Amino acid sequence: MATVAFIGLGNMGGPMAANLIKAGMTVTVFDLMPAAVDALTAQGALSAKTACGAAASADVVISMLPAGKHVSSLYLGDASNKGLLDVVSKDTLLIDCSTIDAATAQLVGSKAAQKGIEFMDAPVSGGTAGAAAGTLTFICGGTDAAFNKAQTVLTVMGANIFHAGQVGAGQIAKICNNMLLSVLMVGTSESLQLGIDNGLDPKILSDIMKVSSGGNWTLEKYNPCPDVMDNVPSSKGYQGGFMVDLMVKDLGLSQQAALASNSSTPMGALARSLYVNHARQGHGRLDFSSIFEQFSQKK
Ligand code: NAD
Repeated sequence: MATVAFIGLGNMGGPMAANLIKAGMTVTVFDLMPAAVDALTAQGALSAKTACGAAASADVVISMLPAGKHVSSLYLGDASNKGLLDVVSKDTLLIDCSTIDAATAQLVGSKAAQKGIEFMDAPVSGGTAGAAAGTLTFICGGTDAAFNKAQTVLTVMGANIFHAGQVGAGQIAKICNNMLLSVLMVGTSESLQLGIDNGLDPKILSDIMKVSSGGNWTLEKYNPCPDVMDNVPSSKGYQGGFMVDLMVKDLGLSQQAALASNSSTPMGALARSLYVNHARQGHGRLDFSSIFEQFSQKK
């Protein structure tokens, strides 16, 4: 059974690491927040004082961090700290599941390859519910050897595992998906509010649209209107889930990619603008479905 180091135990990393423990793996965890570490040690994880300490003797290292700068300093180190590439053995497989820019993933991948270490980007889709249920979609970028070796851990945490291409390809596929998700969330929110403003019950309207041509993931799994669905962030004060600040980051990444490839992405650009505005109003730490409030709040 693989020994795993898990770095970054937030809304996603916490439940993902918990599933590895439940599967009987030896999991050593690290996070900057002691409370996040305590929650995992209570479920059977070992803990380490540093990320390097957690990773030094692991077969597989998995990271789940906010953004590219965190991933770069974790693996490559900085002025005051060693990076994981300085301490792990050549046999260790490194898997970064964060959503970051493809360039950082490629930089870490090339530095790892220079040392003969396999690195794979494997961003996920499926939200916190998918992380808890072990049904995430993993979108991997790396060599065939890394992809094959990663199956042992990824199949415990996910239901769909794709090999998008070489290192960085997972990140490109992921930002395409999240750009579409943001557009669907905004469109679903404005449609639901239009119905409410014209006397419709949002539950009935959601049931209708779910099986009609407007049906989409946000209506099926993540309705943004409070009290339409149980156990989704909109029915819990938009707490937990996928933060607006992280969606703003992903939409920035998709716009950067669009500029670099001269792609036309007008809907993604508008969605980014709406989410930036929402964050600037102080809602950055709410779940991204809270964009509904831009349409629902009485002015
Ligand atoms: P989060 O903010 O809840 O968790 C991030 C964790 O990383 C925090 O616990 C933080 O303390 C820790 N951390 C930050 N820097 C660290 C470091 N140097 N060493 C150790 N720990 C460190 O974020 P999240 O929602 O879990 O998202 C993580 C990543 O997954 C992001 O890239 C996000 O875009 C992506 N993602 C999130 C969701 C979602 O629904 N939340 C879905 C898909 C992908």
